[in-house]
Amino acid sequence: MTNKHFPKALALVCALIFAPGGCGGESRSAEADPNTKSQASVFAMDTYITITAYGENGEAAIKSAEDRITELEGLWSVTSEGSEIYALDRNGSADVSPITAELIQFAVDMNIRTRGALDITLYPVLRAWGFTTGEYRVPADDEISALLENTGVEKIGISGNTVTLPEGMQIDLGAIAKGYSGDIAAQMLKDAGIRSAILDLGGNIQTVGDTKPDGSPWTVGVRSPFGDGTAGILKVGECAVITSGGYERYFIEDGVVYKHILDPATGRPAESGLESATVIGSEGRLCDALSTSLYVMGVDGASEFWRASSDTEGFEMVLINSGGEIFITEGLEDSFTPTAEGARVSVIRR
Ligand code: AMP
Ligand code: MG
Repeated sequence: MTNKHFPKALALVCALIFAPGGCGGESRSAEADPNTKSQASVFAMDTYITITAYGENGEAAIKSAEDRITELEGLWSVTSEGSEIYALDRNGSADVSPITAELIQFAVDMNIRTRGALDITLYPVLRAWGFTTGEYRVPADDEISALLENTGVEKIGISGNTVTLPEGMQIDLGAIAKGYSGDIAAQMLKDAGIRSAILDLGGNIQTVGDTKPDGSPWTVGVRSPFGDGTAGILKVGECAVITSGGYERYFIEDGVVYKHILDPATGRPAESGLESATVIGSEGRLCDALSTSLYVMGVDGASEFWRASSDTEGFEMVLINSGGEIFITEGLEDSFTPTAEGARVSVIRR
């Protein structure tokens, strides 16, 4: 059995694209120059998080935002004793912070909107596959069926800040926590007066400000699922660019590749034909929920979902299938440039 885990490579690719001045643990800043760059990284939520901010007060603002992300990890980690989710999963009931209750409610709503593609109650099934620990195995069909009996967000009770789960149910916010943390961190930077910043949460990107300080658009790489390079580059304004990819965590047993995003209908790795789904929109939380869901849905299901919801949601997407074909929604026609010459790019229209 072999396993691969790539977020560091992804973080590096992105950091090189966004922050040619460098990345790492150091911070630097000076007074009053809008081009002054401050940058610092922290390891949280199982990945490297790098925030780059321009202008005055960047260093202090980044520190507060990264401290908050670390705090949020402390609330939502499924594996740290002491987290609210850990207590809930262990005891079947917990009084949680308002922000945690709100995120769980959001996950319930998104489950309904995605017709079950996003399901935070899959945690026991994910654990059976070993995706939560790295001790990978292929569970037997009847083991999966038995575990699926205990899933279903409609069984989660939310009353004020008290959350209850039925016997045998456990939840995991891993598919949405980074996107929401990005929103919170980005808002903190804005509140601190930062007008231009880029946050890289393990390859998930959120920007503050419509442009870089020099007035040029932000450039964000969409990672190629087939290697360490990019499949394309996006030019964007203030937004979140969030990717779900099978390549981020998988194992191989008897020549079969098992990837970490499960289809809640089967309890097995989603076989939608997609290698990655990238969602671009104004809210990181929504983009994160959607990237996981659209990956499960595949090109046809995702296109249908986009057509049905694009008027109100205003999100765009880049889908890459196992044949290397790239599908972009029409709003990205002028902002997406494929990296490889001769790349096959189709445009999804309304
Ligand atoms: P993301 O990278 O945001 O797509 O999140 C993927 C992670 O969410 C996985 O590593 C699992 O921990 C968890 N997960 C896998 N499949 C699902 C699903 N269908 N719904 C919700 N969470 C999932
Ligand atoms: Mg996600």
